[in-house]
This record gives sequence, C-alpha cells and structure tokens, in this order.
Amino acid sequence: MKLCIAHLYPEVLNLYGDRGNIRCMKKRLEWRGLECTVDELGIGAVRRSAAGVKTGTPGLTGAAGRSLSQYDLFFIGGGQDFEQEILLEDLRHGMADEIRAAVADGKTFLCICGGYQMMGHYYETARGVRCGFIGAVDLYTVGGEKRQIGNYSFRLGEESGGSIVAGFENHSGRTYLGSGVKPLGTVLHGSGNNGKDGTEGVRDRNVFGTYSHGPVLPANPAFCDKVLETALYRKYGKCELEPLDDRFELAAHEKAVKRR
Ligand code: GLN
Repeated sequence: MKLCIAHLYPEVLNLYGDRGNIRCMKKRLEWRGLECTVDELGIGAVRRSAAGVKTGTPGLTGAAGRSLSQYDLFFIGGGQDFEQEILLEDLRHGMADEIRAAVADGKTFLCICGGYQMMGHYYETARGVRCGFIGAVDLYTVGGEKRQIGNYSFRLGEESGGSIVAGFENHSGRTYLGSGVKPLGTVLHGSGNNGKDGTEGVRDRNVFGTYSHGPVLPANPAFCDKVLETALYRKYGKCELEPLDDRFELAAHEKAVKRR
C-alpha cells in the first residue's frame, strides 16, 4: 500500500516547524513497510486555463503533469496574515477549485492554523482585511486584538480516536464553526478555536483542521495514525495500522501535556 501526499504552499505556509508533520507521517508509514511519496506544490502549481483547470505545472518538486486527484492526503501549514493574503490570487486561479473537489471526493486533509482558516469561507484579519478563502468547510475566522499564544491541549472527538492532543497555539484569528460541522476536539487547557465555545479545530468529512503547531504529530502519535488510517481507508478500504514502539513519542507527549 502507498500514500501520495501533497504539501501545499510549503514556501509560504511554514510556521513553527509545521513541515515536521510531513516527516512524521512519512516515517510512521515507512516504519510499517508502507510506501509514501511527498510532492511540494507551491504557488503556480495549479493554474486555471481557458480549457479548465490545468494542474501539475511544475510545483516545487517539479510535479509536472500530476493532477491533484492523484493525491490521497493534503497538508497545509500555518502562516502570518500577510502570507495568507499572498495566496488569495493563486487560490482564485484554480487551487481553490481543486481543493474543494478533493474535499468533496473524501480526500484527507491536515490543515494547521492559517492553513485551517483557509479552508473556511473567509478570514477577516485584525487589520480589517477580508480574505475570501476556499469555502470547502463551513467555518469563518475573525482576527482579534489579543493573540492566543501558548501551550494548550484538547481531547479529540470519538470519530477522531478520542485521545488527548498537546500542542502550541499562536493565532489572532477566532474561528467559528457552521452548524453542520463538528469540532476536531474539545479544549482542555488553552484557547482553541475562539476561547469562548470550548471547541478546537474542525473535523468535517476527512478534513482535520487544528490550531496546533509544533509540529503537532510527532508527540501525538495516536492523532498521526488516525490521519493516516483515514487516508488509507479512503483509498483501500478498512485499514488498521500495526502498533509501533512509541516509547519516545509517548514520553514526549506526557511531557507536553504536563508542560501546559
Ligand atoms: N495569521 C493567522 C492568525 O494570526 C494564522 C496564524 C498561524 O498560522 N500561526 O490567526
């Protein structure tokens, strides 16, 4: 079995070591003898042409000729307000169409902070700039004066495995979920989506959105495996990943939970 991962906008959305999540997912597949490819698709990788959306013009890894429909799992990291604004034009020229189609097709997404906000209808920054985003998930974000910064923890919903995730958040955005989508989890300590309703992130179809930087996955192995199983299940049907020796990961997890 094999998973093809697309790392979207790595040259722009790359805060707090979020790319470490890619390495973690790749390693946890390879340690189980499963193949994993990773393509970095930056600005210009998808361009709408007169004949429709032309995909695969060489991305950062020269993934020429590959349509986004060939990918099983998409990763989008976090970014500052101005970096998110940079992407608006590129999203409008085809990438947003492709992302909406992939979400509707049940493909798996892991979206962190700014990348998570981007999946919603819009993000109105603290400076009042309104970024019309992808609208693939029913949520919106409004920037606040005071940034939410610090170590935090939340419990995943049952459909995402129910484990505790320890992470780090740094965002001015307050995210509000539409009635039809569930949060990824409930806040145990810290702010989460908006510091008011006790929710953190989003879980909609196979989209996992979270404010958790870090990278979040290495010290939260159960969460990582849930994301991987979701993508494998969509591609191959029921899939149980065999357990790994997670002594080091779990020691880091305990420390992170206590650090809070
Ligand atoms: N710029 C967004 C905010 O401040 C996202 C920040 C991030 O990705 N860390 O809310």
